[in-house]
Amino acid sequence: APDETPGNAPGSVELLSLHKAFNKFTAVHPLDLEIPAGSFFALLGASGCGKTTTLRMIAGLEKPTSGRVRLGGEDITALPPHKRPVNTVFQSYALFPHLTVAENVAFGLRRKGRKDVAGPVKEMLGLVQLGHLSDRKPAQLSGGQQQRVALARALINRPQVLLLDEPLGALDLKLRRQMQLELKRIQTEVGITFVHVTHDQEEAMTMADTIAVMNDGMIEQLGSPEELYESPRTAFVANFLGQSNLLPARVTGRRGGHLQLDVFGGRMTLPAERSTATRDTFVMGIRPEKITMAEAGSDDEIRAVSAGRNRMPGIVTEAGFIGVSTEYRVRTHQGPELVVFAQNRDDYRPRVGDPVLLHWDPKHGFGLDTADTAD
Ligand code: ATP
Repeated sequence: APDETPGNAPGSVELLSLHKAFNKFTAVHPLDLEIPAGSFFALLGASGCGKTTTLRMIAGLEKPTSGRVRLGGEDITALPPHKRPVNTVFQSYALFPHLTVAENVAFGLRRKGRKDVAGPVKEMLGLVQLGHLSDRKPAQLSGGQQQRVALARALINRPQVLLLDEPLGALDLKLRRQMQLELKRIQTEVGITFVHVTHDQEEAMTMADTIAVMNDGMIEQLGSPEELYESPRTAFVANFLGQSNLLPARVTGRRGGHLQLDVFGGRMTLPAERSTATRDTFVMGIRPEKITMAEAGSDDEIRAVSAGRNRMPGIVTEAGFIGVSTEYRVRTHQGPELVVFAQNRDDYRPRVGDPVLLHWDPKHGFGLDTADTAD
């Protein structure tokens, strides 16, 4: 009977204590990871965190120091790159300049001795919406179009897994955003496992089902974009995916599933399940867009008090108009400066120098151990 365990499905990737050292330098600490078949998976991290090395070990371009790579349940650690049912798309598209778009896409099939390539080439060009440019040479294409050709060429052999190493890195911002949605659509259509390396948090969040945030050769946190954003487990993740205000807090009591906190001499609360902190002195995080501003002394301020919201009074020191929103900095009376994102459809839009009350629903906070915040 066929083995139904998820790790054995065609297209699933398993890394078992996968480890890479260059001489004495550890680029990737022993890593355990399961990438489900058919998912869009992102390895996200800053330059030098080990994401490319991890990808290259899956491709077979880098030999692991120790550990195994399994694909569809089969150990492929010893297989050379061309024997792996895997293809890679790089930032530099590496198209053949003397071949047309169609010939570039057909290349992988021809090399395998296939003669009847017209059908699959047409299908692939349709998938990446380039059917009308099949006779052009790469030099006659835009960057985004070249990237689509590279994608079609990598997919025509129907690899079990497609590895993408910063594939949109050479494109300008607007095209990049457009191609992110395209890549997601293409992955959904072909159903092939995509493993995507990027340092761009927005890119990872837009496309991936699951993101592994890497830091210093280790995975800091693994989860869906929403999980990572709403419930970061480390300060690194809290600040790598968006911005966070991080406030030192001390637990003064516990009641009804809530931690009672002292934050700069003020009282706040946090649902106990929103904290991963192991000690009573920790850091409470709050995202800038979860904070509401009320006019000091207004009815809104009174409502915030009676609704049991966490509160900090302060003075607006900066207001950066972004269009749909404004990014405020507010110097609180207790000391720290908080970042607040406000929608510009809100009725109350304070100016620099105005006294305000910052308030937020306690359930939007998150608690982290202090040791993690040493940036
Ligand atoms: P980037 O986005 O800049 O490519 P990355 O997260 O992909 O960064 P890697 O390319 O995986 O990082 O590199 C991880 C670490 O390993 C880096 O510190 C890098 O300098 C080092 N490294 C990578 N390849 C080699 C090599 N061939 N020899 C020695 N050190 C290497």
